Amino acid sequence: MALHTSALVLFSGGQDSTTCLALALSKYERVETIAFDYRQRHSVELEARLRVLEQIKQQFPQWARKLGEDHLLDLAVLGQVSETSLTRDVAFKMESSGLPNTFVPGRNLLFLTLAAALAYRRDLQVMVTGVCETDFSGYPDCRDDTMKAMQLALSLGMDKRFLIETPLMWIDKAETWELAQSIGGEKLVDLIIEHTHTCYLGDRTHRQDWGYGCGECPACDLRAKGFARWRSSKKS
Ligand code: ZN
Repeated sequence: MALHTSALVLFSGGQDSTTCLALALSKYERVETIAFDYRQRHSVELEARLRVLEQIKQQFPQWARKLGEDHLLDLAVLGQVSETSLTRDVAFKMESSGLPNTFVPGRNLLFLTLAAALAYRRDLQVMVTGVCETDFSGYPDCRDDTMKAMQLALSLGMDKRFLIETPLMWIDKAETWELAQSIGGEKLVDLIIEHTHTCYLGDRTHRQDWGYGCGECPACDLRAKGFARWRSSKKS
């Protein structure tokens, strides 16, 4: 019998967390999802995640029976401790610290702590998150060491053995597309292109070959370059 059979996926509705969700559904018997509403400038992300959940249920019946409750936690309080381009109407830019001004200090620590509290209550063993060290942004609360420290702190602090799974930690965006294809084929790749949302500006009007987005912001740039690299690697 498998040691781990249930998971809670931190699911934002973007390419990364959708790939993580598909992976969890392919591995575990029972999967629930969680997201945080911290008054993002664009409700586009929150709409995208509901659409993706719906499409997964429709297009992958073998996963639909495993996919359980979706939880949306209100984190408006984050607006009181941060001034960033995600919650206020200021332009995205890089700070002198080398971090983008979207950075909310320790945000992911808070997310994981709340996710663990929910996982405890729902009796879910694994928390799956799409954090990644190969990203351009280098958020310190998304690093591998931070995840390992959080796994230990949460397991000790709640007296329950949690596993934090980070399938994207060491892969780049091209490899994330490849991973999606290996899990769910072209059908999953198409679902990610059509329904997930990544663009920082909330643009859903411009359809690129990799999905919707302005095509200019750092998030679009990363997604577009990864997609192009992945597609060209398939041709060679
Ligand atoms: Zn964009």
